[in-house]
Amino acid sequence: MSFKVGAHVSVAGGAEKAIERQKEVGGNCGQIFAGSPRTWSVKEYSEEDAERFIQGCNDSGQGPYTIHSTYLVNLATPKDDLLEKSKDCIQKELYAAEQLGVEYVVFHPGAHTGSGREAGIETIVSAVDDLVIPDSVTLLFENTAGKGTTLGKSFGELREMVEGTSQDNVGVCIDTCHAHAAGYDISSEEGFSDMVQEIREDLGLENVKVLHLNDSKDERGSEKDNHEHIGEGNIGDQGFRNLVNAEVFESLPMVLETPNSDDKGYKENIDRIKELRN
Ligand SMILES: [Zn+2]
Ligand SMILES: [Zn+2]
Repeated sequence: MSFKVGAHVSVAGGAEKAIERQKEVGGNCGQIFAGSPRTWSVKEYSEEDAERFIQGCNDSGQGPYTIHSTYLVNLATPKDDLLEKSKDCIQKELYAAEQLGVEYVVFHPGAHTGSGREAGIETIVSAVDDLVIPDSVTLLFENTAGKGTTLGKSFGELREMVEGTSQDNVGVCIDTCHAHAAGYDISSEEGFSDMVQEIREDLGLENVKVLHLNDSKDERGSEKDNHEHIGEGNIGDQGFRNLVNAEVFESLPMVLETPNSDDKGYKENIDRIKELRN
């Protein structure tokens, strides 16, 4: 089994441009946005665009890929108009994934904004039930840092969503920064093995399909979502050593969403992850 690690890369200039960007940073799997992450627009790809992307993946041996949904979607909202918009957006992203041969669409479950935890989860489950998930695509709920009324902070809550829906093609993406923010201990060996045990018991390892690797600028349990370079935050090298050498995760695609604004980019972070592999 080959180790799969890559980065979230831009599709600016066309989907196939992502392949080249991935190569440059040394990744062999990855993530893209289907449109602009801070708007409702989902790009419509031409047959040609899609074919070039699929061909590029095949030629370079890259994959699987994930489409990260826009940050605006909220399937837990009590507001009907926002819920409809959110469903519409994820539906388009699911179709874009099918067209591009992308295996996963990952989204943040959302915030109930006052309607309550139970109502929020019910809203999410029924919204996901209404989606058409193409056979070739799996929809992933991402764990969250848990700030405010955000749902999906605990593995147990994610299981309620995954098992609540009548859809078959669903699963979970675990983000290390979010798990750390939610209070899970990744950085010590003992804490990490407890976390794996909690995933086993509360979520089911079989439901975990993709990992997002990000260090955290904040303390464990802070509920803050500020990504940091691998090894430079509060999860630290030992945390990622625990993770990338864990047998239970070794077949999963690992995607980095580390900062890209300073002199250190994805390449350095991917190299660091590779170094931490025994
Ligand atoms: Zn995310
Ligand atoms: Zn993430």
